[in-house]
Order: sequence, then structure tokens, then C-alpha cells
Amino acid sequence: MVKGTPSMGQRQKRTHMKCRRCGSTSFNIHTKQCVACGFGKSAKIRDYKWVRKSKLNGD
Ligand SMILES: [Zn+2]
Repeated sequence: MVKGTPSMGQRQKRTHMKCRRCGSTSFNIHTKQCVACGFGKSAKIRDYKWVRKSKLNGD
């Protein structure tokens, strides 16, 4: 029996590596898709209007 959370020692695998398009560590190694910019799956950069708090639309 050890102190703390025992399974935390097994967490060595990384699901995301550094995306070469957006630069954030959001590129999933297994699915080969960046969750931040959509790199890998789509050629377009993942962008949604609800991400940006733009006041241009007068919402
Ligand atoms: Zn990316």
C-alpha cells in the first residue's frame, strides 16, 4: 500500500503531442488530429465563432 493515488505512477503515455500547425500540445497521437486547430483531419483551421468573443456581430 502506498500513499496517495497509486495509479498516477502509470501515467506515462501521452495522448497529445505538440501540434506543428498551432503549436499547442493538442495533437492526438492516436487519432492523428489536433483538438485545438483540427490539423490532421481537415485542411481548414478549426475555428468556431463561439470560441472568439467577437463583438462585431452585435450579438
Ligand atoms: Zn493544432
